[in-house]
Amino acid sequence: MTMQQIVDKLNKWAYEYYVLDNPSVPDTEYDALYDVLTAMEETTGTVLPDSPTRRVGGKPLTKFVQHTHLGRLYSLDKAQSFGELADWVDKVKKEVGDVYFTVELKYDGLTISCTYRDGVFVGAATRGNGIVGEDVTEQVKTIRSVPLTIPFKGVCELQGEGIMRLSELAKYNARHADDQLKNARNAAAGAIRNLDPKVTAERNLDVVFHSAGYHDGLGVSSQWQLNEFFKQCHMATNKIFERVRTFDEIKAIILHIAEIRAELDFLIDGVVIKVDDFAVREELGYTDKFPKWAVAFKFDAEQVTTRLLDVDWQVGRTGKLTPIGKLEAVELCGATIRRATLNNYGDIQRKNLKRGGMVFVRRSNDVIPEVLGAADDDGEIILRPTVCPVCGSEVVENGANVYCTNAEHCRPQIVARLTHYCSKAACDIEGLSDKTIEQLVDNLGVKSVADLYDLTKEELLTLDGFKDKKASNIIAAVEASKKVELPKFIFALGLDNVGAVTAKDLAAKFGSVGALSKATADELVAIDGIGDVVADGIVQYFAEPQNLEIIAALKDIGIDPTYTQAPKEGTFAGKKVVLTGSLDAYTRGQAGKLIEERGGEIASSVSKNVDLVVVGADAGSKLDKAKKLGIRTIDEAEFVAMLEEN
Ligand SMILES: [Zn+2]
Repeated sequence: MTMQQIVDKLNKWAYEYYVLDNPSVPDTEYDALYDVLTAMEETTGTVLPDSPTRRVGGKPLTKFVQHTHLGRLYSLDKAQSFGELADWVDKVKKEVGDVYFTVELKYDGLTISCTYRDGVFVGAATRGNGIVGEDVTEQVKTIRSVPLTIPFKGVCELQGEGIMRLSELAKYNARHADDQLKNARNAAAGAIRNLDPKVTAERNLDVVFHSAGYHDGLGVSSQWQLNEFFKQCHMATNKIFERVRTFDEIKAIILHIAEIRAELDFLIDGVVIKVDDFAVREELGYTDKFPKWAVAFKFDAEQVTTRLLDVDWQVGRTGKLTPIGKLEAVELCGATIRRATLNNYGDIQRKNLKRGGMVFVRRSNDVIPEVLGAADDDGEIILRPTVCPVCGSEVVENGANVYCTNAEHCRPQIVARLTHYCSKAACDIEGLSDKTIEQLVDNLGVKSVADLYDLTKEELLTLDGFKDKKASNIIAAVEASKKVELPKFIFALGLDNVGAVTAKDLAAKFGSVGALSKATADELVAIDGIGDVVADGIVQYFAEPQNLEIIAALKDIGIDPTYTQAPKEGTFAGKKVVLTGSLDAYTRGQAGKLIEERGGEIASSVSKNVDLVVVGADAGSKLDKAKKLGIRTIDEAEFVAMLEEN
């Protein structure tokens, strides 16, 4: 195909998708051809006048009144694989240093921008081409999850995704035998773009808010704070909203989302990763189409059918029984698939999966495959386990999950807890691989992490494959782990949902496991990044006598790390510093890091609590405000001089 033919085809598909709400090809086909065009444009340096890469969205429908957005709505750049996502994270870090990222679901619906003035909802519009959209005020007004008043009294454009929940779709279809809606995305878009607001109302849509466009001072400086702001406004917010620092953490969340995707009551077509801090976003800036501070990780939708041969139940660290489907081997996305996660027993029931029946399997990018649902009625019913498949103990149900209650003696639980405790991000006990830990459990009667510290070299030498050197190394590594730092120790304890980053925050806040064990749920949720589920899990963990016994035993051994913030020293010690304008020698991220290394704290806006404002070229309102408040300002030369002091 010539470039013009590709452009024509994409334009036809985009018209069908955006204007007619009646796509003739799946999104994946559009995206694939779009990528071909992008690559072609990059190599030839030519962009045709009607290329879809020149615009953000589609043409507004003429039958609606046009609405010009106060601020432009950008679409997001895409990452199609974990490799591309890792590259994006690296690029951001290279430019602005270590930053927080937020990770949220990418709802598959219609983007809506709602305008509020003096605390009142005054209008809504579709995205359109990002600059001009269609006025859908009357339609959106009927959506009950969009508040008609909010506490904020200025002017703001708040954006979210208009969606139809799958349960609402099912209810609608049950009520309308002669008007069946097939797809929740098209049902939502069709309802909002309908000239009759009654049709919108009848479909019970939701708007899930995720972004702020133009505003005259919301008083938020990060995505995290914006999300809290939405909650304060009684707006629906993202079901999954996490704040993390590393690619590995982002990947873990995406894998989790891929696992639970089929359980969600709405469609998603990916995951959105954004730089949390708005000041850092400004520094990163925009290309002419996308913000550089956000990316959409798109799920691929390839799926096949195969036979579900049997179900294995795996017992995890917390005793949770996770069903793993054994599949008749099938090719999917270039790999042979033999196993797939089934999430939990509730999921098996909900999807009506049967042993020996045919099932739909999907694999999203390089994510582990998932079973979407039954493809026929064949097979025998899969029963909920009544006892632990490994230790035979009684099981209990908690929500959709089943747990083995024998925390003390169930072998896979013991092994998983020990493996976690010894892992690199936890106590980092080198030499204790999964295999070795199984040997310790099976042959030396190790049951809890405290038992590791009673091991002797003589005992280790009785194990298969152990020589003098290996045994000595392990004894030394176990001994060295007594000096573990508090953040890693908290992580090592293996609390449900407490990852390495949360453990760090808990360490900084409470300073010791003793203090943490007395924390209330209210104190915990007050920490940025900790929600109700995590807080409840922490409180529950410390309510378990066995857990307290192990912590006490570790304390007796001498493991009770405390955490104190290093005393601030340096030129900027104790100073709150604002950076404004651009510096010649440093990016804002680099300058911020240098200030923090010298004891200073970076603030994103000027207030009377700020001690110092570093003023670069083209400084704007922050400089004016600093002058007004009488705050000390320095230029780049003075800043460099201060850096050189230490
Ligand atoms: Zn068990």
